[in-house]
Amino acid sequence: MSKKVIDVLNAARGRELLAISQYMVQHYELEDADFGKLAGTMKQIAIDEMKHAESLAERILFLNGTPTTKAAGEAKKGLKFEEMLKADIKLEEDAVKEYNMSAKICAEESDNISKDLFESLLGVEEGHLDEFQNILDHIEKLGPAYIATLTG
Ligand code: FE
Ligand code: FE
Repeated sequence: MSKKVIDVLNAARGRELLAISQYMVQHYELEDADFGKLAGTMKQIAIDEMKHAESLAERILFLNGTPTTKAAGEAKKGLKFEEMLKADIKLEEDAVKEYNMSAKICAEESDNISKDLFESLLGVEEGHLDEFQNILDHIEKLGPAYIATLTG
């Protein structure tokens, strides 16, 4: 089996592990600041990323590779609303770019199952990107009035 495919699967797994810790940090921080509704969104998205990290590991193991346990960076802590969402948007945009490229590499290596895995992840990451962008748009347009709806 192709080392190139195992490498892109592991790069994606590192990226997912970073996303998990970033969204979990935000979930706890938001919960602590009484933004329960937004905290719940972060928790749900962190769980999506856990499923991604797991599917990537299963595919890597099937290909006789070793799933990485290293996140692709450090989660950012203590950010204000806007910075937090901008950091999350960047994470999702980078994932979308990388997974499109990874799907192409898997196709070139004639591994359609791994290619399909990347395509299924892409659909979910685009959904996350859209969700974060919507929240940021609302914060920028409506300010405190919208932020007040994120409590609970
Ligand atoms: Fe993901
Ligand atoms: Fe995502």
